[in-house]
Amino acid sequence: MKVLVINSGSSSIKYQLIDMSDESVMVTGLVERIGEDMGSLTSKTFPGTDREVKTEIEKPIPTHGVGLEMSIDLICKGENAVCAMDEIDVVGHRVVAGGEKFNVPVVITEDMWPDLTETERLAPLHNPANLGGAKDATKLFPGVPQVLVFDTAFHQTIPPHAFMYALPYEYYEEDHIRRYGAHGTSHKYVANECARLMGKPVEEMNLITIHMGNGASMSAVKNGLCADTSMGLTPLEGLVMGTRSGDVDPAVHNYLAVNRGLDIAAIDNILHKESGLKGLCGMNDMRDIHAAVEKGDERAKLALNVQTYRTRKYIGSYMAVLGRVDAIVFTAGIGENDDIVRAETIEGLEPFGMKIDPEANGIRSKEARRISTADSDVAIWVIPTNEELAIAREAVALIK
Ligand code: AMP
Repeated sequence: MKVLVINSGSSSIKYQLIDMSDESVMVTGLVERIGEDMGSLTSKTFPGTDREVKTEIEKPIPTHGVGLEMSIDLICKGENAVCAMDEIDVVGHRVVAGGEKFNVPVVITEDMWPDLTETERLAPLHNPANLGGAKDATKLFPGVPQVLVFDTAFHQTIPPHAFMYALPYEYYEEDHIRRYGAHGTSHKYVANECARLMGKPVEEMNLITIHMGNGASMSAVKNGLCADTSMGLTPLEGLVMGTRSGDVDPAVHNYLAVNRGLDIAAIDNILHKESGLKGLCGMNDMRDIHAAVEKGDERAKLALNVQTYRTRKYIGSYMAVLGRVDAIVFTAGIGENDDIVRAETIEGLEPFGMKIDPEANGIRSKEARRISTADSDVAIWVIPTNEELAIAREAVALIK
């Protein structure tokens, strides 16, 4: 079986073609700057193997539909084609928000569209683009099942006392305001991988999963199911991120409005795009922050400290949620690559049975690895996430 996985963003499309017979990646591609004067398409067939071929096209790409068609042409036609169009058995789409209705992956049917369109208000930056990609693919692949995999689905097991905000109840009933979380596909994938690596059923494991990239979130996973997560109604709540504030006092909005005369849209923009690491030190890439810390930049050090302190605080709260923690898993850009952030996050948690082995932590690798000492009660792991493979697996499981 061959699965095309599509992650359609506001001005980009990422895709992978995966051969499920051995879960190998046949093609990866990225379409960027859709709708701008000049767009680009970069594609690699058989990436990372000795058969790898890279193709780069620069030309205006007016719409997502055009970008997707160009990508399919590369995959299925021309000199570097890897398969015919009718060999693609299913298309899987990443969708950020599924709300309460879409708590499992679905094969799209025509009658779903009103409910799917409803979800757009929960993630106005992401869902219209995600669902638009699914519409484009439906036209390009008539008769091929289109599976939607929702980032929020894994978090739908969170109990009401953890997903409710203490707001007037009608805001939940009428406006659907509650915690939905995000990055669920990644949290679920690394939780399952951790269980597999430790040789235990995930249903018997309590885990804290830390997805830390440009966006960052954490989940408490109890007996294999999500019990709580740090992102909320939107992906703004929780940990300190590249440009997103994470948790702030909700009264900050009114305070800024009164003191700086800012309107709600401007404040929202600041919290999403001008805050987090960038707000604290002017840089949002952790590699730049480390370089600045080395040169003695105090603000960069502060940004690092605020970020690792916030994450540690969440670990503490999730220990209380779970009661017993079997493992902590770090994943995503920072989680997988940054030994300093990992070490500083866990620092001080030794009395709770969490001990990092500095040597294991310092090893750079693309493989999953345990980084805790042999006598650490809680296993600490670095497990590379693979959201595309997770989506492909869900898609295949559903159509089978
Ligand atoms: P992601 O959103 O998962 O793609 O993660 C992107 C972020 O990971 C970047 O903005 C960097 O802050 C961080 N990152 C990527 N590579 C490294 C690295 N080698 N060391 C530290 N941070 C890294």
